[in-house]
Amino acid sequence: MSGIKAMQYIAYYFAIGLAASIALALAAVKLRVIRRSAALAAVLIGTLISLSGPFTVAFFIIFLFLSTIVTRLGAGRKVELGVGSDLEGRTSRQVLAVGIVPGILSAAVALLPSRYLMDLLVIAVAASSADTWASEVGVLSRSRPRLITKPWIRLSPGTSGGVTALGELGSMMGSAAMVLAALALTAAAPLAGPAYAYTWLTAPPSDYPALWALGYVGEVLDSVLGALLQPKYFCPKCGVTTDQRIHHCGAETIKIRWGVVTNELVNLLATSAVLALAAVLIHPMPP
Ligand SMILES: [Zn+2]
Repeated sequence: MSGIKAMQYIAYYFAIGLAASIALALAAVKLRVIRRSAALAAVLIGTLISLSGPFTVAFFIIFLFLSTIVTRLGAGRKVELGVGSDLEGRTSRQVLAVGIVPGILSAAVALLPSRYLMDLLVIAVAASSADTWASEVGVLSRSRPRLITKPWIRLSPGTSGGVTALGELGSMMGSAAMVLAALALTAAAPLAGPAYAYTWLTAPPSDYPALWALGYVGEVLDSVLGALLQPKYFCPKCGVTTDQRIHHCGAETIKIRWGVVTNELVNLLATSAVLALAAVLIHPMPP
């Protein structure tokens, strides 16, 4: 692909991507996938994602669709546990935390189509998916979560750094779902022709188990960083550790761990860390 031709595609995808992102962001607000205040962030991320063409857009839409489904699983119980705020839609900080790394990678892929960068994009989205599924499926577990760094500490469901067997299974499935979606899009890419799929260059199928594993490792890192860096509170009434200043039981909690890092920053740190790991493990390939 010549440089001029590639620039034409980028300009074309930018125009189409911006228009489509505005339409999709409005639909996402209406469907409560995101909050109204997150619309601008969604347009920014959507436009960046669009730069590398319709296959990357399809990949991201599959991620949003599956994330929304798992978020709505057991909605009543999530509200009861005081962890149902994402049912109102994701905030702009959440949209940016999840979307900025794939967005930047998509823009980079558009300028320099590369299997290597595309693999990193797949891993970043698989890690976000693993994290979403871990929280949204794990919170429905009947057994109490334990702090990943100190498993003898029992947590209130939904607390950052907490893990359950069900949540970890969900996390593995969340990473697998996006890696399988990438595989399906890779199989479909030759049918679409070079005009639509020239940037969608992913790893050979033999590398997919590694992409899946790295997506899952991203969620484990997210839990470890959440356990180490986020503030923690103790509910004297229930005898559990929580992220909530006022526990869902109504009792006021006691701060037991100081921390200034938010969940969104932990997401971003975990994604960056797993991509650094991936960069070491996957040798850069010429485009
Ligand atoms: Zn309580």
